[in-house]
Amino acid sequence: MPNTTASPKAVKVGQEFYRDVTGEMREIAASMGLPDIYTKRLEKPQKTLSLHLPVMMDNGEIALFDAWRVQHNLFRGPSKGGIRFHPDITLEKTIAHAALMTWKCAVVNIPFGGAKGGVCCEPKKMSASELERLTRRYAWEISPIIGPEKDIPAPEVGTNETTMAQIMDGYSTFAGYSVSNVVSGKPLSLGGSVGRLGAVGRGLVHILKESARDHEIYLYSSTAAIQGFGVVGMSTAQYLSETGCTIVAVSDSLGGIYKEDGLNIEAVIEYKKKNGRLEGFPGSEKITNEELIALPVDFLIPAALEYTINNKNADSIKASIIAEAANAGISPQANKILDSRGIIVLPDILVNAGGIVVSYFEWVQDKQQFFWGDLEVEERFQGIMISTYRILDEMMRAEKISMRTAALKLAIGRVAEAMRFRGLCP
Ligand code: NAD
Repeated sequence: MPNTTASPKAVKVGQEFYRDVTGEMREIAASMGLPDIYTKRLEKPQKTLSLHLPVMMDNGEIALFDAWRVQHNLFRGPSKGGIRFHPDITLEKTIAHAALMTWKCAVVNIPFGGAKGGVCCEPKKMSASELERLTRRYAWEISPIIGPEKDIPAPEVGTNETTMAQIMDGYSTFAGYSVSNVVSGKPLSLGGSVGRLGAVGRGLVHILKESARDHEIYLYSSTAAIQGFGVVGMSTAQYLSETGCTIVAVSDSLGGIYKEDGLNIEAVIEYKKKNGRLEGFPGSEKITNEELIALPVDFLIPAALEYTINNKNADSIKASIIAEAANAGISPQANKILDSRGIIVLPDILVNAGGIVVSYFEWVQDKQQFFWGDLEVEERFQGIMISTYRILDEMMRAEKISMRTAALKLAIGRVAEAMRFRGLCP
């Protein structure tokens, strides 16, 4: 039978992650003098739906999958956040990610709160029809709490535009008409936005360019290593290589590849798609994930899962700038080590916000039923990403704090202001 419940180890990791995310928020809120009741309100999600999804498998047996949809904060608008299909997803991990989504939406100042969905499953081991039945059952069960004005799911680890199309279809069947803006990250033919695919990588590269300029690193002579070669890692590699940066190493969960004079990213993507792995890419050397993290490059980009940069390997890092593409790619302890070593960290809630920004554009376009072209999307996109970076950079310099602290201060301040105006009761 398939894996449908997270292991005790994954449950423990999820609890620690939730504790870390909450602890970080508490620390920042205290430094801002936020009333204790606000902190308590932000520690817990506003709404949580816990599910046990029965799905008919191809062999005729019924499997029961643990699943959740968590809405962390709804003070600034409907909640927004991805749906993760992964065997290690747990309730606590989903809550922690939903909180990070609240900060992310607030830092780029889009009118959403944070949410997250999780289904404990192994999508790579399931057939397309099993995945579709699982997705449709999940869509059915979360339909009462999602909606364009309530909560808008998006793709994340293990899900994609097909998942979103099936959720939209399920929700629309209930509503009795096509509700395109109940999800983002849909196919273009269903009301998706141009520029959504690859938005995370593109946004990251916009920020990295600004930061490199500020630190006098020239992209055409720079080097980078990327850990994690999925949706985010690949798009980051594509956009970064277009700037002239030499990408010397990339990896996935099975290990990585290294080429001193640079990898041909398009050829690597082709190879990975054809062979399902990176190892063996012609002309490259095999490298472990730990070796990749310690490479002497200008830019290190963790684009895999949580805490791949942690207190065990933070001391080995030689990169000048880390762009945290993965949500919580760096543990809090590692962030402290990196700060003390003077390594610049561009935090997740800024650098990977590109997905949420273009998701917001998608929601707006669906609402208007009027669609923008590439240039219009790109102009607005760059405007938001770069101006946010500039605000944070100024805060960082003025207050002598890390960019992560600046981003959290800005985000928590914006959410707290919405809470203050609306009031906490009744
Ligand atoms: P994905 O599943 O497409 O890719 C994840 C990649 O990481 C895969 O190549 C996998 O093999 C690799 N990986 C997993 N564990 C690893 C390990 N221990 N070491 C090295 N590689 C490992 O997922 P994705 O959508 O690319 O998401 C990657 C990260 O970006 C996640 O943290 C996610 O939360 C974040 N993110 C995704 C989006 C999005 O729109 N997809 C948006 C914002 C942030």
